Amino acid sequence: MKFGTYFAYWEREWDVDFFPYISKVAELGFDILEVSGGGIADLPEDKLIALREEAKRCGITLTACIGLPAEYNVSSSDRTIRGNGIAYMKKILDNMDIADIRQIGGIIYAYWPVDYSIPVEKEKTREISIESVRELADYAKPKGITLTLETVNRFEQYLFNDAAEATQFVKDVDRDNVKVMLDSFHMNIEEDNFYDPIINTGKYLGHYHIGEANRKVPGKGHIPWAEIGRALRDINYDGTIVMEPFVKPGGGVGSDIKVWRDLSGDADDSKLDEDIRESLIFLKKQFI
Ligand code: MN
Repeated sequence: MKFGTYFAYWEREWDVDFFPYISKVAELGFDILEVSGGGIADLPEDKLIALREEAKRCGITLTACIGLPAEYNVSSSDRTIRGNGIAYMKKILDNMDIADIRQIGGIIYAYWPVDYSIPVEKEKTREISIESVRELADYAKPKGITLTLETVNRFEQYLFNDAAEATQFVKDVDRDNVKVMLDSFHMNIEEDNFYDPIINTGKYLGHYHIGEANRKVPGKGHIPWAEIGRALRDINYDGTIVMEPFVKPGGGVGSDIKVWRDLSGDADDSKLDEDIRESLIFLKKQFI
């Protein structure tokens, strides 16, 4: 298992310079830095190469994550929107290839968060989504890139909300570089427990986001980390595990994630570092 964190723990906006975070997470003991797909979509080649070289220098693996905005909804029945979404994702995949990022997760099969003022047509949308994911998977395959489809709660998406639906979706996509991505925050809302969904996902699990139910760093809440660790060991999971803590209100990140209060205990940057360093030590004890 490789352990990482999302850069947004320290940031209020999605589009930031990821470069300084590569050495920072390495110093904190992580193996992975997760960056935002949207943040690398528009980066020039020299910046992408700089990220690649810095990651290599620091021994860090980069992964990417994105919830596609509505204008790039690859599950849209509007051909123009779907086409724009496919083109945007292909641009991200091209840039990932330059930056040597071989994995992207998130809501890359539809859009996020869902606008529920529009009536839900689950079956029809599911068919379009599967076609789009196949097209993106076939484009990503020669680059050695894996797509991991994030399973999120009912308030944010409807195509699949639990591990069983996600696994069936991935089986229906039927591409070996498409996997299930789970997230403990969403599982806490949708699953009966944490052990069985991981066991039942088994070899289809490709990426795992972790955080407490209130999105604090692992170890500060009530998520059963020992049970999750047991499940991951029982499926011989050797993939990526990335923390996705959000503890500060404000900016585009606070607004999109709905962080309306300070959950960090008024932590300054050095306390944020200390908290996540301790969390990683705690987590490795539970998972390895
Ligand atoms: Mn997540």
